Amino acid sequence: MISEKMKGYVKNSSAIRAMFEEGKKMAAIYGKDHVYDFSLGNPNVAAPDEVKQAIIDVVTNEDPVLVHGYMNNSGYEDVRETIAEHLNGLYGTKYAAGNLLMTVGAAGGMNVFFKTILNPGDEVVTFTPYFGEYRSYTANYDGKLIEVPCDPVTFEPDVKALEAALTPLTKIVIVNSPNNPTGAVYSKECLEALAAVLEKKEKEFNTSIYLFSDEPYREIVFGDTEVPWIPSIYQNTVVGYSYSKSLSLPGERIGFLVMPSEIDDFADVTAAANTANRILGFVNAPSLMQRVAAKCVNAKTDVAYYAKNRQMLTEGLKAAGYTFVEPQGAFYLWLKSPEPDEKAFVAKAKERQILIVPGSSFGCAGWVRIAYCVSNETVKNALPGFMEIAKEYGLGE
Ligand code: PLP
Repeated sequence: MISEKMKGYVKNSSAIRAMFEEGKKMAAIYGKDHVYDFSLGNPNVAAPDEVKQAIIDVVTNEDPVLVHGYMNNSGYEDVRETIAEHLNGLYGTKYAAGNLLMTVGAAGGMNVFFKTILNPGDEVVTFTPYFGEYRSYTANYDGKLIEVPCDPVTFEPDVKALEAALTPLTKIVIVNSPNNPTGAVYSKECLEALAAVLEKKEKEFNTSIYLFSDEPYREIVFGDTEVPWIPSIYQNTVVGYSYSKSLSLPGERIGFLVMPSEIDDFADVTAAANTANRILGFVNAPSLMQRVAAKCVNAKTDVAYYAKNRQMLTEGLKAAGYTFVEPQGAFYLWLKSPEPDEKAFVAKAKERQILIVPGSSFGCAGWVRIAYCVSNETVKNALPGFMEIAKEYGLGE
């Protein structure tokens, strides 16, 4: 008999994953080239060559006992040192190995941090729409997820609504920029306003409110869009980074947490996070991938590939008369459903073998997410279907 808690998780199991499985079944029926699967954020761009070279280099030239062995639960000291120095070069910070903890992707990092901070009943604030797994990660530690809206046009956090939602039980506020599912990138001004509210409420309640910046898409931005380094704006910020998207390594499960020395209770938090990584059963992040990550600090994914998809998609959807948020980063497009029930729209798209995810999975009904980290052909070949659906709804008339 499974636990009551797991019954809930299974029942609400990810609609995105279900859609991904559906896509595989449809491909078997219609042929892979006739299914347009925009459901999952699985990069279609191959990992950069540097990754392959680094894997070969590490397994060929490094001591196998070291490469495949246990190490400090926070990760190899030299790997953390190298990454810390790289961050210092980028953001003018003074991080050292002790500010980093290597994690099993962004998901592992969030779970480590939530386990470190949350008591049962503590509140975690997220801005809608949001990556649906935040619900499960909060529930894992018996926290309570509080949803606060974004501005309905820019999809940046509504800072006034945030102020009203904060309570003495608020322990963590999550921001995710570049954002999944909207593609929005939060401006410095918005983050400064958000920081001012958090500082005010920390004083008022005499509590610590940690800002958790979930950043798997940091490098995937278009044009001259800049992604501010949030610890420079709000002192009590912890960053969760991942190589899943930035180096196309989602299956390898590698990322890190940055816990700046300025955060509240730094020594306790880092010691507890180290233990949390172990007792959650991760023990440590994959050893080979840690060493590869350190060798690939300057490697970059092919953002131009995503930019091409973005351009084709936005031009095609605009011409068809759809309303959407112009994505500034990540590889998602947030589209307003032509009818209030976005699940009906999703079903209509599925009739044309187009798989997209309902906004309710992200806590925001009436919208859908299109993950365009697919082949250029998939985007091109799906556009006639999007156009036909638009005509059925009488869009652009
Ligand atoms: N956070 C966001 C916003 C994501 O979109 C994802 C994955 O899609 C994750 C976290 C989890 O990333 P990882 O594969 O690094 O665990």
